Amino acid sequence: MKAEIIAIGSELVSGQCLDTNSQWLSRELGSLGIPVHFHTTLGDDIDEDVAAFQIAIAHADLILVSGGLGPTQDDLTREALARVAGVPLVENAEALAAIAAMFARRSRPMAERNRVQALFPLGAEMIPNRVGTAPGIWMKVGNAVVACLPGVPSELRVMYDEQVRPRLNQFALGGRVILHHKINLFGRGESDVEAAALDLTARGRVPEVGITAHDATISFRISAEGTTEDEARRAMEPTLDLIRTRFVELIVGEGTDDVAEALLAQLVRTGATVATAESCTGGLVAQMITAQPGVSAYFPGGVVSYSNQAKQELLGVPASLVATHGAVSAEVAEAMATGVRDRFHATLGLSVTGVAGPTGGTPEKPVGLVFLGLATPDGKVQTRKLEIGPEQPREIIQRRSAKHALNWARLALLPMPSREIP
Ligand code: AMP
Ligand code: MG
Repeated sequence: MKAEIIAIGSELVSGQCLDTNSQWLSRELGSLGIPVHFHTTLGDDIDEDVAAFQIAIAHADLILVSGGLGPTQDDLTREALARVAGVPLVENAEALAAIAAMFARRSRPMAERNRVQALFPLGAEMIPNRVGTAPGIWMKVGNAVVACLPGVPSELRVMYDEQVRPRLNQFALGGRVILHHKINLFGRGESDVEAAALDLTARGRVPEVGITAHDATISFRISAEGTTEDEARRAMEPTLDLIRTRFVELIVGEGTDDVAEALLAQLVRTGATVATAESCTGGLVAQMITAQPGVSAYFPGGVVSYSNQAKQELLGVPASLVATHGAVSAEVAEAMATGVRDRFHATLGLSVTGVAGPTGGTPEKPVGLVFLGLATPDGKVQTRKLEIGPEQPREIIQRRSAKHALNWARLALLPMPSREIP
């Protein structure tokens, strides 16, 4: 069993509109246990549409098509399907009545052009559209089943939920459930993580484990199958346990959880508070913390101390320290962390100072050089140096710095002696 998604629309291939329908449909088919092997995206061109359909029919058993069902001249899905099937387009009275009724409900006259939406390849079935004018098409072509849905995402989803999914069940194309789960790690590079997980990511392993990186967070994506959801979950569980016990403190969360959620969990667990002093991140650390609902008891506040004067007046960083070591230095990060911890009476003081670029770098202090400071209740203050890389854009340097800062505070609160704290 192989499925293909074909997304049709010149606005998709030109980059003006992102093809979200293919992603959504693939997830839906996956949840029915129908594996999607191909995505094809192409423009509104009859010859190209015909060619794509021919390829799909030759290698897939189920083909879901999105787009090209509207009334305008660039809506060519009906015609392409008829050509591939080698049949004429014929008017479907039921479809025409449904389209006319839709216009009547909205008290609008039906344009002559909308009649084409009632045309179907001979032998095709109409899929009713409850929320728009374009009916869908259900048709067997060769050995493949083809279902054409409207491109407007809200219409496509309703039609899939109400009309297509039940038909897939009825045709017994599925019968298996595929579950996906994500475990997110932070603090190591993708290749380091992969090197420690070669047994997990080996091709052909069941359940399947993949690694992806996003925004410096490394994710294990685990996919397991079963005849029921329960069975798929049981098949997945030992792999999840293996990852959880192997990567312990590198794990920041599962599903969509990342470093900020993980820090909040530790703040809640320990009752600690954290105050922030930021230079190059301009408040991003505080923003990521306060984006978490329920954080108010754990975050008294933060300071964006961009200028040397602000560092001195708001955090008590001595001007002489900045003059001797520079604003981007371990010494200043230290003083910022201590200063903000004292001023906010927080358990932890967390600071960031660095060169976000693209200008302002020097051979000794290149763009991407960042110092983090962490002041703790024992009166100690530690610093950490990050070298994010002069080639990285400003936004990446800021985001990485902020995430490393949050992660460091999280590690400091972990119950176990952490291998991660430098
Ligand atoms: P169509 O059914 O081809 O007339 O598409 C109508 C509108 O739906 C387009 O103008 C797009 O804004 C949107 N659309 C079409 N295809 C997709 C897709 N694959 N993903 C997301 N939006 C889409
Ligand atoms: Mg279109």
